[in-house]
Amino acid sequence: MSSETRKFGQALIIGGSIAGLLSARVLSEHFEKVIVLERDALPAGPEARKGVPQGHHIHALLEAGLRILDDLFPGMTREMESEGVERIDMARDAAWLQSGSWKARYEGDVESILVSRPFLESKVRGRVAALPNVELREGVSVEHLVLDATNRRVVGVRVKGPEGEQELRGALVVDASGRGSRTPQWLELLGFGAVAQEQVRIDLGYTSRLYERPEGIDAWKILVINGRAPDASRSGFISNVEGHRWIVSLNGYFGDHAPTHDAGFLEFARQLPTSHLYDYIRQARPLSAPVLHKISSSRWLHYERLARMPAGLVLVGDAVCSLNPVFGQGMTVAALGAKLLGEGLARSQGTPEGPPAEMSRRFQKELGKVVGLCWMLTTTQDLAYPRAEGARKPGLKLLQWSFNNMIDLTSVDARACQRFYDVLHMRKGLEGLLDPLFARALLGYNLKSLVVPRAQRANLDTLPPHPSTPPPRPSGRLDNAA
Ligand SMILES: Cc1cc2nc3c(=O)[nH]c(=O)nc-3n(C[C@H](O)[C@H](O)[C@H](O)COP(=O)(O)OP(=O)(O)OC[C@H]3O[C@@H](n4cnc5c(N)ncnc54)[C@H](O)[C@@H]3O)c2cc1C
Repeated sequence: MSSETRKFGQALIIGGSIAGLLSARVLSEHFEKVIVLERDALPAGPEARKGVPQGHHIHALLEAGLRILDDLFPGMTREMESEGVERIDMARDAAWLQSGSWKARYEGDVESILVSRPFLESKVRGRVAALPNVELREGVSVEHLVLDATNRRVVGVRVKGPEGEQELRGALVVDASGRGSRTPQWLELLGFGAVAQEQVRIDLGYTSRLYERPEGIDAWKILVINGRAPDASRSGFISNVEGHRWIVSLNGYFGDHAPTHDAGFLEFARQLPTSHLYDYIRQARPLSAPVLHKISSSRWLHYERLARMPAGLVLVGDAVCSLNPVFGQGMTVAALGAKLLGEGLARSQGTPEGPPAEMSRRFQKELGKVVGLCWMLTTTQDLAYPRAEGARKPGLKLLQWSFNNMIDLTSVDARACQRFYDVLHMRKGLEGLLDPLFARALLGYNLKSLVVPRAQRANLDTLPPHPSTPPPRPSGRLDNAA
């Protein structure tokens, strides 16, 4: 976009991680200048850093997120493939025991890439840093918001950095500072009231390490072992990543976290619901020490419900919602947020002050719809644990029962599995599950579950076949799967 078509002056972004960088790319089309303010010193290459401690752990990318990366940075993911990142078909290349039943394997069309978080972030950062009207300022911590004289519009931020304390002005401030965002406190201090929040306490811990990828294992490219709540509360993941390595993550709820010493890590893996992951890693050579990261809760801050939202401020990524990462949604929500922000700005009239107040409000509402789907999928499962603390709405038990049946159905019916992937990978909203064929198949399966034991109607035991033995195409059995 040429500079004549940019409607606004300067934008400020708090946080230079995935949500901040993607927002910067989008804002670069609408603002003369975009400044990303990042507290950390930024590494030159693909290294984990203090402000993104989750970078040590597995990071799956859903298809909707991949598509946005491909749109925003043409050629970037292909370039990554030439450096050892694999592009996969989730339906074919993932072996996934979800809630205790193995997903059907078939030639699908749900794409993803297998990449470590630091590698992905460094590639995105490189592209954003190369944009002529974007500046990344590192070592700068944002300390407060600055309001105009009417107390209705955010017009900048106060920062602490190498040049001491300063005030910076912006026509839009984007808070992309992650789960530790201080906007709720700032807004309350500034008189905007408390931001409503939902929380589900899970005391989850991820422990992860890198391994050298042994030769000759081609049964899957990503392996996930996840038992059924509430009986099983541990999961394990192995994923190929660049550098011919595996990232192996083990997680457990309610303080049952995998130890960070060799023997304890392996023993935790041995006690997963199946022995597959343990059998693969016990012979492999570790390349790094295990690292633990704790996630106390899934948390959603409802900015879309705030009675008075200041103009000139929007929030994206984990600053709005940070989820149990079991479904790998966080980066994709950040990407969808950036996309929505671009669409909102494109629709907005430029005013001398910046985007109109209505833009912020509408943006938070639209983002709330995206987050709502992810929240529903994740918390429905987590609230099946009696120890999970959170609001249990009427009908939850019925929803959990049907959700579990849907998961079991996806172990024996490739078309049903494809519908599930469409929704999980955010190609479609929940309406993807309301498709008449799918709804009929699930209804039939729900009835079947009342009379047929689970072991006879779901694949609980058999690691689905090797992808090089041609898997069956979806068979068209959806409507008679029951
Ligand atoms: C163990 C684990 C595994 C995960 N696995 C997946 C997965 O498989 N797939 C997936 O999509 N997501 C996953 N996630 C979620 C994903 O990591 C987050 O959703 C994503 O990183 C959110 O990005 P963000 O930019 O909003 O925030 P963050 O990545 O948290 O970044 C916030 C940035 O803001 C900076 N910052 C903070 N405060 C300030 C300040 N005051 N001033 C300046 N800078 C500041 C920080 O230094 C940091 O760089 C996982 C998370 C965890 C914890």
